[in-house]
Amino acid sequence: MKKPAIAIAGLTACSGCQLTLLNCEEELPEIAQRFIIDYFPLGLTERAITGPIDVAFVEGAVSTPSDLEILMKLRNCSRSLVALGTCALWGGIAAMKNQESRKDLAKTVYGFAADDLKSFNPQPLHRFVKVDFAITGCPPEKGELLTTLAALLRGTFPVFPRYPVCSECRSRENLCLLIERDKMCLGPLVQAGCNARCPAVGIGCEGCRGPVTEANVAAEMELLLKKGFSRDEIVSRMQRFYPEWDYEQSS
Ligand code: SF4
Ligand code: SF4
Repeated sequence: MKKPAIAIAGLTACSGCQLTLLNCEEELPEIAQRFIIDYFPLGLTERAITGPIDVAFVEGAVSTPSDLEILMKLRNCSRSLVALGTCALWGGIAAMKNQESRKDLAKTVYGFAADDLKSFNPQPLHRFVKVDFAITGCPPEKGELLTTLAALLRGTFPVFPRYPVCSECRSRENLCLLIERDKMCLGPLVQAGCNARCPAVGIGCEGCRGPVTEANVAAEMELLLKKGFSRDEIVSRMQRFYPEWDYEQSS
């Protein structure tokens, strides 16, 4: 069977999603043997996109003309494109301040050099190109990345769970931080797959895997307000990984 050609690219992000792959130390030799790695600037000396590519994995949000150029190049020469991680899929950390003026933010961080900065509000990949598959997480779970690579060898994509972090949390028999400890936990709204890593050690879910399908945002907002959290506090927590929750949705 012909080896699939893959690309792993990073746009506006911290490279953590790409590091998930590099941290698969035991599996890397087999990955290198079973795939042609066409483009992977973080891991290869050669930095040109040659193509054609079977599957391009793209980490990060789009926030600069150069991000857009790389994304378009990859989309044009790839059969499938995978959004790798929360920033690529939802905007993530990169987009957490999208409600504020980009100009003011740039000035705060870069001072007078901000005038030469060519950037715009970070956006997820699907706003610019067709995305064929997504692996969420900040960073993604190693198991989900390896499962995806294994599925690619069979010419398909895997099916991941579509339920909230609470399902995993309750199956671990954790005490509920939200109901029983009155802590802020976004587990009911957030896509499972991390085995409720944070609530299992007493830390409320911060939402790093992004929204689960049919998340009842209004109900969570109402519950947290009743528990005494301020609206600003709740919104600021919710916006950390996904800036576009619909707080007013009817429950
Ligand atoms: S602790 Fe959080 S994730 Fe666990 S069941 Fe309660 S709300 Fe859900
Ligand atoms: S519990 Fe929430 S914040 Fe923690 S890893 Fe899972 S999705 Fe991310």
